[in-house]
Amino acid sequence: MDPWYNILMSETIFLKIISGEIPCHKVYEDESVLAFLDIGPLSPGHTLIIPKEPAATLGELSDESSAAIGRVLPRICRAVKAVSGASDYNVLQNNGSLAHQAVFHVHFHVIPCFEGGEGLQMKWNSGTLDPARGADIAERLREELR
Ligand code: AMP
Repeated sequence: MDPWYNILMSETIFLKIISGEIPCHKVYEDESVLAFLDIGPLSPGHTLIIPKEPAATLGELSDESSAAIGRVLPRICRAVKAVSGASDYNVLQNNGSLAHQAVFHVHFHVIPCFEGGEGLQMKWNSGTLDPARGADIAERLREELR
């Protein structure tokens, strides 16, 4: 493994939050998961949910940590919705700098949306799925997942 990987992982700000070296507004913690308020919220209640396992991107996360996040994510979403008063919210998870990931420790954003635009703003430049191309991609994905 690239030696820079461990250095990078040991220096993420989220690892320092997990260890208590840097403070946070904690909203949930168990043995595998921590959730806290985002320091630069897109809207009131913007919350981050992170595994304690130091994986940079979702595809690198163990099944155990993924399951631990999956178990609490809906509960945290319900709490964010109830406390923020938002009727709607986005769950965002960025992987890699092209995908706007800034902190290389897996995290899920829960972002309440409000009338008037507070919340996640996004462009959704949808194309059209060509049937032949779609069949090919789906077949290759099934093969990869076997
Ligand atoms: P991303 O672009 O998906 O990597 O998002 C990283 C998020 O981490 C941003 O929304 C930041 O505001 C947030 N963030 C960075 N440092 C802290 C911190 N010390 N406490 C809470 N949130 C943070």
